[in-house]
Amino acid sequence: MGLTKKRREMLQKKIEDDFGYRRYHDRDIEVIDRGGSKGCGVFAARQFLPGELILEVRGQLLSQKDYEGSTYVMEFDDKWYLEPGVPACYVNHSCSPNTELMKITKYTMGFVAFCNIEAGTEITFDYQWEAADWIPRCNCGAPNCRGWVVGETEVKKMEKLTGKRKSGK
Ligand SMILES: [Zn+2]
Repeated sequence: MGLTKKRREMLQKKIEDDFGYRRYHDRDIEVIDRGGSKGCGVFAARQFLPGELILEVRGQLLSQKDYEGSTYVMEFDDKWYLEPGVPACYVNHSCSPNTELMKITKYTMGFVAFCNIEAGTEITFDYQWEAADWIPRCNCGAPNCRGWVVGETEVKKMEKLTGKRKSGK
């Protein structure tokens, strides 16, 4: 028999309370649930200097040939995607990010500060997604916000895509 919704919620709460699954924190970073539509984000628990490693991204490596990708997936190299685990999967997009994502070992990536990051600041990076009709609006609040969670060169395509959708209905 499948899980009832109530039992699933109860068990999920137990996982989160007992194992702190979504509430990851260490001396360097902390996952904070800001509630509502904002959801979880990763915040600096101390100051980071430019060039400093903030966190290592570990997860599942998936062949690009066999995998369509997901919302969280990162491009590892030209053959592999990296599906990040906790806490990296909670790093949010910003059009004006404070980190860069780079391949740091044979199997992992790292978020590296490219500016000074004060304690309490949200860790962000630029997802640079390709334009697609499911792409969400960006609410990063940066003055140079591109309006959607896409790369700079994809904005025109997004305008076309969403324009089409509006006039089509
Ligand atoms: Zn933005």
